[in-house]
Amino acid sequence: MCLDGVRKHKISLKNLTNSEKIPHSVLFVNGEIGEKCSRNSLSITLNSEYRENCPVSQINSEFKCLLELSVGVNKLTLNYCDIELSIDLNHVVSDNPKTVTPLYIVAKDHDGTFQARERNSPENACARITLGIRMIQMIFAEKLRAPDGSGRKTFNLSGDCQPFHSDLSIEEACGMTESQLWSFFARELIDRMPDCQNRKFVAFIGCTRYHGSKDADYSYESIRAATVANAALASGGLALLGSGTLFSWPERLCDVRVYLEDETCVPLDELMDDSGYRRTFGGCFATSLGSLLHEMGHIFDLAHCDEGIMGSNCDRLDQMFTLKDFHTKYGSLPKRKVPTGREWGAKCTVVRRPGGNVGAFSKMSHSGGVYFTENFLILLANHKWFNESTGLQLDAGLVFNAKTREICGKYPLKLVEMRNVSGLVERYWIISTSMDTNNVYFTFPPHIQLIKCTIFCIDVFGNTLNLTFN
Ligand SMILES: [Zn+2]
Ligand SMILES: [Zn+2]
Repeated sequence: MCLDGVRKHKISLKNLTNSEKIPHSVLFVNGEIGEKCSRNSLSITLNSEYRENCPVSQINSEFKCLLELSVGVNKLTLNYCDIELSIDLNHVVSDNPKTVTPLYIVAKDHDGTFQARERNSPENACARITLGIRMIQMIFAEKLRAPDGSGRKTFNLSGDCQPFHSDLSIEEACGMTESQLWSFFARELIDRMPDCQNRKFVAFIGCTRYHGSKDADYSYESIRAATVANAALASGGLALLGSGTLFSWPERLCDVRVYLEDETCVPLDELMDDSGYRRTFGGCFATSLGSLLHEMGHIFDLAHCDEGIMGSNCDRLDQMFTLKDFHTKYGSLPKRKVPTGREWGAKCTVVRRPGGNVGAFSKMSHSGGVYFTENFLILLANHKWFNESTGLQLDAGLVFNAKTREICGKYPLKLVEMRNVSGLVERYWIISTSMDTNNVYFTFPPHIQLIKCTIFCIDVFGNTLNLTFN
């Protein structure tokens, strides 16, 4: 019985439904309490053992919490005042043979420590990277989830993060540019790791060092210039990142929220600040986890867009997982520069859309300030790393006919993108599936000029066609 009298509380979950199949181990619980009362305390229990007293936001009655799922059926129970809500969640690990392998690169003559005041061994690094990548695995699934619980797709991990002992020396690493580092490690991984056609790597460089910016403003550019063996670069099978902000990352899931909300100031002459100018430990964690998400987008063939995670909005992962009103405090963060080849502000153009799920996906995905634009959601939903193999995709026969300007293939096409020379999506077409089209799935409208651009398209089995026009 509610002490406040005849209140009728209601617990509602925004992102989970009963019996939902969950392919990732990190569970994000997000919901709302209808009709709060003075006791205002919510307890969340997973499998009657893990109990979290979860704060409920005073402003909009929202709650958020992160828990670790066990393989198989998990019972999630929420108790608020005199009511209880209980649902079953089925954590099923995907058997997709295409996986992502997280690595921590240790240079040849290096002890493997990363830059931090304490707890900076390779073991600490691997624990942080493992947690970070499991968070990212969950974020992709959350963004692809439709309101009915379907479509929760994400990549499969080959395992936890392991150290990778490189033949590159510290001195060599410190003298290399970002793209030289990427090329070196990509080569080394292909030479030394098995089954590379079915793996994508996410690797952090352990010997990244920040030497203190000479610029008293500590601009992002000057901080980057004062950092060696650093990278935030991805394409093909490798996303390469520096370890400069690992000092701000937690090692346990239960610490994620506290770390995101940590407003301790970064000592700017000692540690690398990459926080979207918030200058806090929490800001560094949010921004660097966001750039991991962005770079992983690239290994799944996503290009740049003017907005969202693949644009300038990858600093705000904290908004997705905390209840703090960061926005009032910091306002809109300055935009990160993403090479576009033209000015900011132009929008991607949608010429054709089928309606239905796509609109819902897109709307869902905007919640929490962290989102992928709809073209990227379609791309990911059909990507081979996000779908268990069907065996059908071997010869997709995807071809472009220059005379008729048609794209033909054996299987229905889902998305066609037109990317400019800098890799920014300028136009895209979402294609409604139709089986009876004589294998012609798309014809470029007459006003579209196919010069100085790249055409990217993906079919229903994740087969892609990438064509560049000069
Ligand atoms: Zn009550
Ligand atoms: Zn990028």
